[in-house]
Amino acid sequence: MPNTLWSAAVVVLCSAGIASATQTQPDVEIRTTKVSGNVYMLEGQGGNIGACVGPDGVLIIDDQFERLADKIRGALTKLNPGPLKFILNTHYHGDHTGSNELFGKEGTIIAHENVRKRLTTTQQRGERTVEPLDPSGWPVVTFQDKVKVHFNGEDIQFIHLAAGHTDGDGIVFFPNANVIHMGDLLFSGRFPFIDTDGGGSVEGYLNDLTWVIDNLPKDAQVIPGHGPLSTMAEVQASRDMIRETGDLVKKQIAQKKSLDDIKKAGLPEKFKAFDWQFISTERWIETLYAAYSK
Ligand SMILES: [Zn+2]
Repeated sequence: MPNTLWSAAVVVLCSAGIASATQTQPDVEIRTTKVSGNVYMLEGQGGNIGACVGPDGVLIIDDQFERLADKIRGALTKLNPGPLKFILNTHYHGDHTGSNELFGKEGTIIAHENVRKRLTTTQQRGERTVEPLDPSGWPVVTFQDKVKVHFNGEDIQFIHLAAGHTDGDGIVFFPNANVIHMGDLLFSGRFPFIDTDGGGSVEGYLNDLTWVIDNLPKDAQVIPGHGPLSTMAEVQASRDMIRETGDLVKKQIAQKKSLDDIKKAGLPEKFKAFDWQFISTERWIETLYAAYSK
């Protein structure tokens, strides 16, 4: 993603606590990138969208914000005029499910059971209360461990991994195209956001990345939840960073260092590139401290 678009995504994430802020963003265009075979990546604001288009119609993974729905629809129609048959939600966050109420009237929404639970009930995220979606935006087909969608010649695997970013994370693997959509289990090249209010955990996130590295093809292309089109190298880099920074913080907790001390000491220079507006080095240390000081 060019820096301008990445910054735009950051702005939206940072302002996620203020509903009105997402209404006043400047004009956003949807940028489409062919990934492989019949799989595409769409970038606008919020989580990256994956699309699988072909003779059976259109399947998308995540749907950003409702105010972008017309533009997303336009970008999809350019790829394929067929009907929108399926919408897969990688998790419940509003920057990935914002167009559910509109697109759910056209296609079938599929998600992990905990995504449906969270989208159909009032959620407390820190100080923010998030109301349930209108029933048109609710997942209709839910699963516990994994489900396959046989569509456009692909046996698409939608796989739930242990609570990492949230407690309903699903990744999507296209075996023919050799593409993985990671949802927010990958913030490519950035410190990740771990939604502990939404059931996420640092250890879970780490284990999920290790599972992907150990079980999916090394040469797969990877659509991250946020950031540019990636490869397994970025998944590996994220996993290694979380493990190394986690070990550093654990060591200091064992030495009875306070959170302030650990923040003052900071992290080694090589992790500086992972720092961004939404999850700064300080905030990442706070996340690790909260996870490992229990
Ligand atoms: Zn998220």
